[in-house]
Amino acid sequence: MMGPSHALSGASVWLAGSWALDHFAGYAQSPLAVAVGATVCAGGALLPDLDLSGKVTRNQGGATVARTFGVFSLFVAEVVEKVSLGVYTATKLSRDPRRTNGHRTLTHTLPFAGLVGWGTTTLCAAYGKWAVVAIVFFMAGLALRGLFDSWAERAGWVIVTLSAGVIAWFTGANLPGDRGYPMLGFAVGVGCVVHLFGDMITKNGVPILWPIPMGRRMWRMVGVPNGMAVKVGGRGETMVLRSIFTVVAVLAVLGMFAPHALRELDLEKWAGG
Ligand SMILES: [Zn+2]
Repeated sequence: MMGPSHALSGASVWLAGSWALDHFAGYAQSPLAVAVGATVCAGGALLPDLDLSGKVTRNQGGATVARTFGVFSLFVAEVVEKVSLGVYTATKLSRDPRRTNGHRTLTHTLPFAGLVGWGTTTLCAAYGKWAVVAIVFFMAGLALRGLFDSWAERAGWVIVTLSAGVIAWFTGANLPGDRGYPMLGFAVGVGCVVHLFGDMITKNGVPILWPIPMGRRMWRMVGVPNGMAVKVGGRGETMVLRSIFTVVAVLAVLGMFAPHALRELDLEKWAGG
């Protein structure tokens, strides 16, 4: 799937999950907490494609996500791609093909999702609100780039970076500072897993089984059969899937906050009338 679909799927899964927690388990979150979680999950759903490097010296190429913070994130993508390729080459078995590019390897595995989720939680526990602000800044940048790709393309990375800064500042100014924010790491991890599912329904699949060796292969690409695969950037993705994600997201938000808002309106009427 392309960047916008990945970001949208991350946001809608987080919103639907938050609604389910609220509805079935009575776990209610503030609107800000839900918004931060959805933003971070949308950013997390783009994170695995940070392994699509470009030509950093010429400021060219790279995935949507690699261009979020201009040449800085392009450089990070270059490093992530090379490290991924290194891990691939070091762990490949005799039947795994030789590769010269690390895309869709290490960052497209469940251990990676677990690792970045755990890392995020650890950072938040150690540095509290400051870590939250930094992570929200980074993830909001990715989410903006993904969700509003044509705007981001026109506005350029400086504006995207500044907007992410404003979101991070607003979050920092309004979030209570006395907790560990374990939900943030969970949102990053869930986002990565949502990305894997998104790639699994396209033609190439992802090495979801890594590092479990099977049939002298460690990096078996797993996905739906080619006949069922969604065409990247086709109408099935841009029209059908994105519409579904949007409807789910809107319904979840309404489900969480509309009853409350209505009740408030009612009370006002009561008090005023
Ligand atoms: Zn991917």
